[in-house]
Amino acid sequence: MKQRTILEKSVISEKNLKKIKQFIPSFEPHIETDNFIPVCSPDLRGNELKYVSDCITSGWISSQGSYIKLFEERFAKFCEVKYTTALTNGSHAIVLALAAIGIKSADEVIVPTFTMIATATAVTFLGAKPVFVDAREDTYNIDETKIEAAITPKTKAIIVVHIYGHPAEMDAILKIAKKYNLWVIEDAAEAHGARYKNKPVGSIGDIGCFSFYANKMMTTGEGGMVTTNNKKLGELMYNLHNHAFDKEIHFWHQYLGYNFRMTNLQAAIGCAQMERAQEMIRARRKNAQLYKNLLKDVPGIKLPTELKGILNTYWMFGILLNRNFPLSRDMLRQKLAEKGIETRTFFIPLHLQPIYFDEKKIYSYPVANNLSKNGLYLPSSSALTKKEIDKICSVIISLL
Ligand SMILES: *Cc1c(COP(=O)(O)O)cnc(C)c1O
Repeated sequence: MKQRTILEKSVISEKNLKKIKQFIPSFEPHIETDNFIPVCSPDLRGNELKYVSDCITSGWISSQGSYIKLFEERFAKFCEVKYTTALTNGSHAIVLALAAIGIKSADEVIVPTFTMIATATAVTFLGAKPVFVDAREDTYNIDETKIEAAITPKTKAIIVVHIYGHPAEMDAILKIAKKYNLWVIEDAAEAHGARYKNKPVGSIGDIGCFSFYANKMMTTGEGGMVTTNNKKLGELMYNLHNHAFDKEIHFWHQYLGYNFRMTNLQAAIGCAQMERAQEMIRARRKNAQLYKNLLKDVPGIKLPTELKGILNTYWMFGILLNRNFPLSRDMLRQKLAEKGIETRTFFIPLHLQPIYFDEKKIYSYPVANNLSKNGLYLPSSSALTKKEIDKICSVIISLL
């Protein structure tokens, strides 16, 4: 893969597009009614308004203000880590983490192909190369048994993503990292509060990266956080996220820093969200159980799993169709949309993205290709009601 520039438009040739069309959505269904069940909506029923009002009345609306520290402290406790830095968003969290471990051009970073684009673009923005690995069939996380084959002398780090709230196989991944002397970054943007062998995600690798976008398990509108137990990395990320201002002489810069600062307004929302984090996770888990009970006997649908030793937060309730289901994924989405039920397709894997496309690799990641073709998630908000879940499942069952 040659180094690309930002304004270089990537277009896939007609010939290759024909090959990959079978794996990408054929159309996006449109919902005509106002009264619809969204795929995900934020739950802001706690102290959010009160704390934000407090920022406005007191005038502390920038990245100075007491809610930032409080949010960082609360999130550190939640993740059982020593160091946290609140940020602009989850994508910047990954960039900052990679910068802090010293990723530079010509380095390679292992990334699951089945993830959201920001996991890989962070690597690309630092001039390094993301090297893709296929997904596991059960959890959709990176297939740890395929990581070693992707490692070269240039590999510096592995980014694991805890897809849809189910933690990746961290013990096996840490073992590989140790053997090859690699950093491990957890992209935990989809898994706030999820646990692997009773350890919270974000506390297991060298650095954890979180997003607080409006559809995530907890939100600040836009926002992110890095977490770590490594003092040096923790202090470095804190410094780099704020232009690397020198501690002794303010406008003196010895490092190339960023402005990735979160505002006090966002942190105020974050503090309120933290107060209800466990409640929202419990609601997601309860909803997942309701879905599982109603859909368990439906032929042709694979439901999300929870492996032994895992606490899955079910950020998104993803289902995977197989040929025993009478409709294609896209037609099922269309039928649900006609009833006012919004859904979302699974990710289109990174190896099929125009910006990372390599025609020799189209069929190299069969699990991710299948997920892209046949996966979708159903409405998954914490505030979803049993009545809504009953409706969604009965629409699906009526199609059989
Ligand atoms: C949402 C998400 C991100 C990006 O977070 P933003 O806050 O939207 O920048 C990164 N990685 C994964 C896996 C995500 O789901």
